[in-house]
Amino acid sequence: MTYSISIEQSKQLKTKPADETLGFGKYYTDHMFILDYTAEQGWHSPRIIPYQPISLDPAAKIFHYGQSVFEGLKAYRAEDGRLLLFRPDRNFKRLNISNARLSIPALDEQFALEALIKLLEVDQDWIPHSEGTSLYIRPFVIATESALGVAPSLEYKFMIILSPVGSYYAEGIHPVKIYVEPGYVRAVTGGVGNAKTAGNYAAGLKAQEEATEKGYSQVLWLDGVHKKFIEEVGSMNVFFKINGTVITPVLNGSILEGITRSSILELLEHMNIPVEQRQLSMEEVYQAYQDGTLEEAFGTGTAAVISPIGELNWRDEKIIIQEGRTGELAATLYHTLTSIQHGRIEGPAGWVV
Ligand code: PMP
Repeated sequence: MTYSISIEQSKQLKTKPADETLGFGKYYTDHMFILDYTAEQGWHSPRIIPYQPISLDPAAKIFHYGQSVFEGLKAYRAEDGRLLLFRPDRNFKRLNISNARLSIPALDEQFALEALIKLLEVDQDWIPHSEGTSLYIRPFVIATESALGVAPSLEYKFMIILSPVGSYYAEGIHPVKIYVEPGYVRAVTGGVGNAKTAGNYAAGLKAQEEATEKGYSQVLWLDGVHKKFIEEVGSMNVFFKINGTVITPVLNGSILEGITRSSILELLEHMNIPVEQRQLSMEEVYQAYQDGTLEEAFGTGTAAVISPIGELNWRDEKIIIQEGRTGELAATLYHTLTSIQHGRIEGPAGWVV
């Protein structure tokens, strides 16, 4: 791979949107990064160019067989003006785990991070300033070979695009209502659930749509075999606090290993709170609710960081948690992790770059 990244500056810079109007994934910065792959040359021609549409042959494999992977992370602006990334090495490591599962050639993780940092330098004025805002980073790989045979593509593009995003909790952290999905499943062991690949999200849309119609904001996914054990919530990992112990489903091949999940596990350890990573059934959660030992439940992910669960609808039974309010542990973890991410307090070594 050539390690020198060419830069073509945009001649027409866009007008930046006001922080209050950002929302999520509506605006894109002035530049993007591209790296090509061919079977003969491997990954080559790294370049930063003005943000623009790309042109692909209609037979490109991404359109037919969904061979693609992506990542999601954020750049934050610290109060002292520094630009911070949260554990970006983990995202590129996970991208390669996804690549391996989807038969996509591995990327040089160190180089991918260098490319991201260079792109951020070019577009740094796009990192918004207001409290809670950030620059969302979307690295992704797509199969671009035009060939309709079902086989791994011989050509790919790795790209990074950037999108300024608003505060997830503009009106303060608030609990959500969750529908425990009895029919549809997100992933199964042996499938691609532990890879961040497009098809997983396409497969989840129907359940999400039906839950929204019922007045719920996300679904709680159960395992694909028994529909008994808890896996994830929407596109977040999930934690329950039962009788003083925090429990999160053990990674089993169908759950995505969230970087927020790993960070929360480390923080809980520092806080001397007992943690278990194991199978957890909905029956057990319901039993805890009836016994009065179900203390808290929350999702974790890059977008919301912590998303408290105020209600679970299971078989039309409403499980109300913390009287629908944010629990103390969720609030503490949210405050601690966001303070580390924004450089207000020091986290474990290497977390903030
Ligand atoms: N599970 C799924 C299915 C996801 O899409 C995400 C978001 N990447 C997560 C969990 C949380 O991962 P992270 O904490 O790395 O954002």
